[in-house]
Amino acid sequence: MARMGNENGCGQDLQSTELNGAGRGTARWGPQHAGALELANLYSPGKRCQEWISVVLCFSLMAFNFCHLLVNFHLGHMWYILLGIVAGILTADFASGLVHWGADTWGSVELPIVGKAFIRPFREHHIDPTAITRHDFIETNGDNCMLTLVPLAHMAFNFLTLSPAEHYHNYPWHCYVMALAIFVTLTNQIHKWSHTYFGLPGWVVFLQNCHIILPRKHHRIHHVSPHETYFCITTGWLNYPLEKLGFWSRLEDLIQSLTGEKPRSDDLKWAHKTK
Ligand SMILES: [Zn+2]
Ligand SMILES: [Zn+2]
Repeated sequence: MARMGNENGCGQDLQSTELNGAGRGTARWGPQHAGALELANLYSPGKRCQEWISVVLCFSLMAFNFCHLLVNFHLGHMWYILLGIVAGILTADFASGLVHWGADTWGSVELPIVGKAFIRPFREHHIDPTAITRHDFIETNGDNCMLTLVPLAHMAFNFLTLSPAEHYHNYPWHCYVMALAIFVTLTNQIHKWSHTYFGLPGWVVFLQNCHIILPRKHHRIHHVSPHETYFCITTGWLNYPLEKLGFWSRLEDLIQSLTGEKPRSDDLKWAHKTK
């Protein structure tokens, strides 16, 4: 299945690179694209408020849980702890791919509530990939912080109520949940770094070069129109195996055969918008 774009399409990270296909010569990628301007204007004060609340709650719970894990640290089942951390990171990478694929491929900005609040940023990102580099910390991380609130709150509740013996027994599981929560929370920050070509801290570039977080060159493969592969944006470790399995295209074929919906029809509509 030849769904992988070639590296020559990678220039789409840069502003003002022409669109593929229809729209060529009239619409361009970047902040001046008609669709990008309209989508950027849909960012509302209510949405901003939701992001602020999510960030404050998420980082407070994360700090609380992290301190409890440190206080209760033991070398009892070290291998299970390491396994829990790696499994947590892999789960976060897969979840990032599933959510990204779902929002890129299905639904529409016109859907009530979720359209403007959660699908809009995905549409904006394809026609103006550099917009994310101009988003501040709250706009970048607000939605992901909201996603991890329930598991983090549940974990905090456990730390307050479990006995020491139960703590010991559940430690590897808590390491799994913590690694998952940290990587889910940081997914969009990691994604933003993968689009940032100037001024990144040395330690971020080091993590990208070691492929511990999503490398810049790796993520460019997703940004080749029509954006149909390499959806995992946390570490990107699962992109190659999922592509080899034809995982996303099989899932799309199945959904299309069941619902009759065409994948990426809303995404293409925004990409081809000229006014
Ligand atoms: Zn995408
Ligand atoms: Zn991207």
